Amino acid sequence: TIDLTGKVALVTGSSSGIGRAVAIRLAASGAKVAVNYLKNAGDGEETVRTIRTAGGTAELFQADVSKLDQIGALVSAVEAAFGTGIDILVNNAGHLVQRCSNADMTEELYDTIMDVNLKSTVFVTKAALPGMKAKGGGAIVNLSSLAGHDGGGPGASVYAASKGAIVSYSKGLAKELAASGIRVNAVSPGFIGQTAFHATFTSEEGRKATVGRVPLGREGTPDDVAGAVLFLVSDLASYLTGETVEVNGGMFMR
Ligand code: NAD
Repeated sequence: TIDLTGKVALVTGSSSGIGRAVAIRLAASGAKVAVNYLKNAGDGEETVRTIRTAGGTAELFQADVSKLDQIGALVSAVEAAFGTGIDILVNNAGHLVQRCSNADMTEELYDTIMDVNLKSTVFVTKAALPGMKAKGGGAIVNLSSLAGHDGGGPGASVYAASKGAIVSYSKGLAKELAASGIRVNAVSPGFIGQTAFHATFTSEEGRKATVGRVPLGREGTPDDVAGAVLFLVSDLASYLTGETVEVNGGMFMR
């Protein structure tokens, strides 16, 4: 069994999709969950309500995790609300932002994509580390993507680069933090339907074509990803660090 009773978990971008499913899963295993949202307070409240209705503990925190000042305030607020440091950090917030060819890429769009995906992961982690180290250890899971391996679809090259970087960042950090009792892993989702991500960026034709390439024969669900995250942050994964778990129905195997 997985028992996270007493652990404090922060899941960035958990007002929807995969982040929401992760927050719900962690709370169902006993963790006290900090639900972070960017813009849509109602969706964040829905995540918190779902957790509380099931008897779990959750609090809601607004922050743009691509902004350093907001990251510091977020982590301080979470630590103050739960009265202790963060044990489990899931760097889930991320976005393709918009499809854009390299020919049309601007410095502004490049910075936005890299900041939302990579900078947020690096600096939320930095902010959470003192509290995590003070508790003698912890677990971090970073959201990569199949795009980080295969480059993604047309117009997703910078997003793919940001997600590829998450894999190498997680490996380096795993080595750096091992002596502090902190494990760092990544999860790399394939095609996870029922997300704003695909509602925005994938046509019905594209969806069918992609599912046709999935050996398990269906699109993934946010909860498929949440299951892998729950395993990685639990003691069942106590000897696992620096790894990237592919959650893609067999679409890509390393
Ligand atoms: P989603 O759009 O539902 O979730 C992304 C969440 O991140 C949203 O709640 C959004 O508000 C939040 N977010 C974005 N920018 C933020 C910011 N600056 N500060 C705080 N929150 C911010 O889509 P999803 O599919 O659930 O995506 C979750 C993660 O999974 C992302 O990192 C995404 O890149 C990754 N991913 C998704 C898929 C998929 O098939 N859906 C595949 C591979 C990787």
